[in-house]
Amino acid sequence: MLPLLIPGCRVHAVETSGTTLVIPAQIILKAMPCPVCNQYSAHVHRSYQHCLRDLPVFDQHEQLQLLVRRFFCINTACARGTLAEPLPEVAPRYARRTPRLTQVLRLRACAAGAEAGARATHHLHMTGSGDTLLRIMRATSAPPLPPPQILDVDDCGFRKGRTYGTILVNLEQHRPIAILPDRAAETLANWLREHPRVQIITRNRALDYARGAANGAPHALQVADRFHLVCHMREAVERMLVRLRPALRQQQEPDNEAASHSVAPAMDAMPPRARYAPGPSRQRIPVARQQARRQCYELAKTRAAQGCSLRQIAQECAVTPTTIRSWLQSDMLPPDRRGYRASSKMDPFVAYLHQRLAEGCTNQSRLWREICEQGFTDTRSLVSTWIRAQRDTSACTTPRTRTPPLPCAQQVSWVILRRDAERTREAQTQWQRMSQQRAVVEGATLVQWFLTMVRERQAATFDAWLTACQDVLCQNCPTLPACCHVMTLRSRQP
Ligand SMILES: [Zn+2]
Repeated sequence: MLPLLIPGCRVHAVETSGTTLVIPAQIILKAMPCPVCNQYSAHVHRSYQHCLRDLPVFDQHEQLQLLVRRFFCINTACARGTLAEPLPEVAPRYARRTPRLTQVLRLRACAAGAEAGARATHHLHMTGSGDTLLRIMRATSAPPLPPPQILDVDDCGFRKGRTYGTILVNLEQHRPIAILPDRAAETLANWLREHPRVQIITRNRALDYARGAANGAPHALQVADRFHLVCHMREAVERMLVRLRPALRQQQEPDNEAASHSVAPAMDAMPPRARYAPGPSRQRIPVARQQARRQCYELAKTRAAQGCSLRQIAQECAVTPTTIRSWLQSDMLPPDRRGYRASSKMDPFVAYLHQRLAEGCTNQSRLWREICEQGFTDTRSLVSTWIRAQRDTSACTTPRTRTPPLPCAQQVSWVILRRDAERTREAQTQWQRMSQQRAVVEGATLVQWFLTMVRERQAATFDAWLTACQDVLCQNCPTLPACCHVMTLRSRQP
């Protein structure tokens, strides 16, 4: 059987080395002609071993040890000197694998990916690391595709958040066909000039792509694809929620607000400073911090009105540009969340500790021992820190109920984008809480209208939708820029 497996070779023996089947073989050739003078020669000059890995045999790795000879040219007048033996098809020159093994590895890599393919081939007694499979895949030339007529243009992150290029996808074949090194209009225009058959370009709403497509393929129809329309709508919802966030938070925590207001006078009326309570100098720190924060907020608003960039304002106020952006999008200064924690190991014992503090017990070690008996497993210093914090916020006598934190605008935006039937129970609860705000309900109605329009391709209702947007915007914020924004949308409609 073995000679049949290695055509053109004579197998001398089969040896075992560990888990590998070693097959020494020799090419079946008695004499060969010189490629220069055509004189046959059987005079061996030297020989060497050419080792290749091959497909497994009898569930064992297989290594082919091929003996390759060099011959003298026996024609003394010939300038050639020596001639190399022609190799059989199974062993290409310089190769370390037989072509049939390479083909199996290539199919594995293309089906499962390099690393997964490498793991599978290891179990099938074929050797090839993930990197090897990746090299084989890269060396495989893709089948030629006809020039695209419908082209998709989108961002492609080389290093997400830092460097981006442009990916071009042939939408007829659903295959990526090129990656451009940047997102510049001119690069896209140059590529389109080289591929004049493109008739339809689908893209996101980036202005560079619009310019590139208009310059490179002025005859092509540009389409804002539905995915990006919905993405941009979600971003708009997110901006709306950031603007309404202080109102939503206020609505979520009415009890706490009331509790803190009712407690403050009681604490003011308290006789001399209680044990562990902060002194006057310590109490001034958060107040000063809050004042400085408010000054920064007002400065940021002023500078933004003067036309300064986010980066300039951030440098001036010594906060991050992200904070400045959230301030500018919000109508009032968002509350300071410094040191906020979503949950703590203290939580199960908070009610008991409040009760003991109200009874007048301020002995930290005793309180720690008492809650340890109830199952608390952490250190005394955590209890001590907690008691000091309670003194700090002047709320040690009144238990504060912890309300769940308001999810971020990005999370909540999905609640608005989903239809009623698609919302989970948690999302439904969030929606009921948010729908008490008139602006949220109006926004959500417009969003659902827009999504239906996109989903069911109702282009005819676009004008009516724009008018409805304009009405809502003018009603909520009677300033010129809002209406201008809708007018810009309308002018871009073609
Ligand atoms: Zn010769």
